[in-house]
Amino acid sequence: MKTKGNKNNKINIVTLGCSKNLVDSEQILTQLRGNNMNATHEAANDDASIVIVNTCGFIDNAKQESIDTILRYVDAKNAGMVDKLYVTGCLSHRYKDELEKEIPMVDAFFGTNELPRLLKTLKANYKHELVGERLITTPAHYAYLKISEGCDHPCSFCAIPLMRGVLASRPMEELVLQAKNLAKNGTKELVLIAQDLTDYGKDIYQKRNLAELLQRLSDVEGIDWIRLQYAYPSQFPMDVLQVMNERSNICKYLDMPLQHSTTAMLKHMRRGISGERTASLLKEIREQVPNIAIRTTLIAGHPGETEADFDALCQFVEATRFERLGVFTYSHEENTHAHTMPDTISAEVKQYRADTLMEIQEKISYQLNQEKIGQTFKVLFDRKEGGQFIGRTEYDSPEVDNEVLVDAASHFVRLGDFAQVRIHDATEFDLYGEVCV
Ligand code: SF4
Repeated sequence: MKTKGNKNNKINIVTLGCSKNLVDSEQILTQLRGNNMNATHEAANDDASIVIVNTCGFIDNAKQESIDTILRYVDAKNAGMVDKLYVTGCLSHRYKDELEKEIPMVDAFFGTNELPRLLKTLKANYKHELVGERLITTPAHYAYLKISEGCDHPCSFCAIPLMRGVLASRPMEELVLQAKNLAKNGTKELVLIAQDLTDYGKDIYQKRNLAELLQRLSDVEGIDWIRLQYAYPSQFPMDVLQVMNERSNICKYLDMPLQHSTTAMLKHMRRGISGERTASLLKEIREQVPNIAIRTTLIAGHPGETEADFDALCQFVEATRFERLGVFTYSHEENTHAHTMPDTISAEVKQYRADTLMEIQEKISYQLNQEKIGQTFKVLFDRKEGGQFIGRTEYDSPEVDNEVLVDAASHFVRLGDFAQVRIHDATEFDLYGEVCV
């Protein structure tokens, strides 16, 4: 970082939180560059005089990380290395009044829906003609496509609707145009994201039509993989599975956060689905799309969870054998419904339950990966690291799922390319293979 009085008018955008927040940062970047401004995303040398921190306000740990990042740039500003510091994103949206009082060194705080005002503050204009465009910060060959903003679901533990508002689907034409532009710029994999993919269209088309959107995106030339991330289980649109079977460029992959498995807990969580229906839905999905990889997320220690609920959840994970699974410990978020319930389960017990679930999953993941030894998979290569080329199969989403490692000393692949890889070894979360020539 440079010494006092930095006025180089370089703008650096720093993103915290989820891929949906990353897309927002990419939109800020696209608009600033569209105004011929010298903007970057997470610049390596961090010498920008203007910094925009795009925060996450989801749960305790994420909020703390956002505050620590803001304070790091406040220190840089006090040292004259940063001239202007702006904060946007979920934490800023949720706690604007408190943050303005507590961290006055920040020049301005913006909500999640205030891009035009942020641009104006930076003396830039919002350019409508850039709506179909987006500069991406992920490797060129994959990009997130956010199909809607906000959420209409009443989940007890979740503060996201407080920060992102009600469902706002993006018009299909806009999404198809963005997909075409991304494909023109080398994107081969589209990861579809939203708070809930399955509600797509309910607001603007008066019907839930994720299946139609998938068909349209699947027709975009150059897109080899389309991946579904964040599908809500209740009233899951089964026509999506038909399109998944009909279209070879839609990955046999489904991320469906379930959060829990017992009817009592799903009721406490206001998930709108019973334990029985959850189990039968998973069975139907596996029957309709053989070999599908199902990823889920669970919450450990939500108010009301008894030992019996937790034991039942462990048995559910053992029986369902998810291909991919993540666990959060419950975070008592103010202004959520669950915040009206006593948070009686200790942090230690929450962590113990989360660890126990991950131990079960580790064994399952190891067994499932062992079964892949000797098989050949189409792999998309993301990066080279520690003498290995590292990629993913269609069953693995970027940054959260398993990876395929190929020894770079004996094989060469171009990053961003697909290659057929024969698996010769496997651990809990990684596969090792060689490129088939
Ligand atoms: S579906 Fe539930 S958990 Fe997901 S963003 Fe909406 S309210 Fe939150």
